[in-house]
Amino acid sequence: MTVTSELPPALTPERETALLASVPTGLLIDGDWVEASDGGTFDVHDPATGEVLATLASATSADAVAALDAADAAQASWARTAPRVRSEILRRAFDLVTERADDFALLMTLEMGKPLAEARGEVTYGAEFLRWFAEETVRDYGRYLTTPEGKNKILVQRKPVGPCLLITPWNFPLAMATRKVAPAVAAGCTMVLKPAKLTPLTAQYFAQTMLDAGLPAGVLNVVSSSSASGISGPLLTDPRLRKVSFTGSTPVGKRLMADAAQNVLRTSMELGGNAPFIVFEDADLDAAVDGAMAAKMRNMGEACTAANRFLVHETVAQEFTRKFAAAMGALTTGRGTDPDSKVGPLIDAGARDDVHTLVSAAVEAGAVAVTGGAPVDGPGYFYQPTVLANVPNDAAILGQEIFGPVAPITTFKTEQEAIELANNTEYGLASYLYSKDFNRLLRVAEQIEFGMVGFNAGVISNAAAPFGGVKQSGLGREGGSEGIAEYTTTQYIGIANP
Ligand code: NAD
Repeated sequence: MTVTSELPPALTPERETALLASVPTGLLIDGDWVEASDGGTFDVHDPATGEVLATLASATSADAVAALDAADAAQASWARTAPRVRSEILRRAFDLVTERADDFALLMTLEMGKPLAEARGEVTYGAEFLRWFAEETVRDYGRYLTTPEGKNKILVQRKPVGPCLLITPWNFPLAMATRKVAPAVAAGCTMVLKPAKLTPLTAQYFAQTMLDAGLPAGVLNVVSSSSASGISGPLLTDPRLRKVSFTGSTPVGKRLMADAAQNVLRTSMELGGNAPFIVFEDADLDAAVDGAMAAKMRNMGEACTAANRFLVHETVAQEFTRKFAAAMGALTTGRGTDPDSKVGPLIDAGARDDVHTLVSAAVEAGAVAVTGGAPVDGPGYFYQPTVLANVPNDAAILGQEIFGPVAPITTFKTEQEAIELANNTEYGLASYLYSKDFNRLLRVAEQIEFGMVGFNAGVISNAAAPFGGVKQSGLGREGGSEGIAEYTTTQYIGIANP
């Protein structure tokens, strides 16, 4: 192999056009890419330029039902398929996604905006779910035991839950799909996947990759659509559907839970977050600044795990703020394909305007923009990396997801006050603690109500770990050994006098 063939393909407009032309534009139903039943389409845009990247078929309710027909028809034989066979399909999919990493990364940068280096990171993270669940597929244990009375036996086995509706958000176009598809394949479930309409291209390309890896027709069906409720509406009330797994905002999750209740569906809900990032007085401040940059700026702050509230001990707040603002102010914004760009655009004009409204209200209430504080002029939906100091504790920016490159800082005096501030939210997804005292870290972790806690770590997502939240951040876990359990149901067999 020559050295040049190992280099990623050059980032030319021709390369972008060729890659976009290779993405399937139809709906995937029963193994075939087809047009929408009414011929409808929708456009996908580049948030760095506002230009149209591609036009996809837009599934109707009838198409959603056809996708469920295919998933239902495939369910029985897929459930009987040997675990080793399902495992090998996932492993091949891991290899293919890894081989196609440059394509997946560029597609995500084009449709979602994140810088290419970050998009490559998401390919690695997203692909890991395929490898992890390839390994979990053959280790889905049951149990066999004697009843306490001593005569009879109990056999407990796990079975696939059945056809699932998977709904994913726009912010991690590959990883949110693999985090659901991989455990469903591992458990033996068939699927209807509805990607977000803002970033469906990566999911379309991933679905083709699953077919290339040998996934049988009908196991994974994809219904990209401009009408989300037109897809979920008919499926959630169809008795053949057995589960809905949703990643997205808390308001939409609540609506889907209410709809799912009609059918007593299994639900997994990965919803919003409002992560506290707590810096104690004994923290290594340089490490805390590095962690803050990662926890805040990953995905331009458009992450459910994004540090949303910086709670810093009053004795170190000034130094932390100065170092953090210097690092934030040094970041370059630009189209994600530009190698110098460290911060891409926000997903659309509305997202950028929402961020600015929160920042303006905080400044009006007394916060100080130490760096940034405004949108960037020109095409695309860019916002300046921003650090806000002296943010009042009742500011709206501390109470809701910012979903942008903005870090509000407040101070605390005591450990107990930090715990109370951290818990002062209806969310409970990710949290980050910085201190050199391990006992303190454990003590605080015990008292904060969050599904995930980072100890001196700004990035905690990992395919081998159970990702998920408490309170209004959701139900269920994705990844880890817990991830496959979300797609299985338990059957108990009582055996008399064997
Ligand atoms: P969103 O709730 O607007 O949309 C998520 C998905 O739901 C999309 O596919 C969308 O088309 C679909 N949808 C919207 N309305 C619907 C309806 N009425 N019926 C059925 N489907 C519907 O969220 P978003 O803006 O795409 O993503 C951002 C949100 O996702 C943030 O709140 C973020 O915190 C959350 N998120 C959570 C996690 C997690 O793992 N907890 C991960 C990533 C993002």
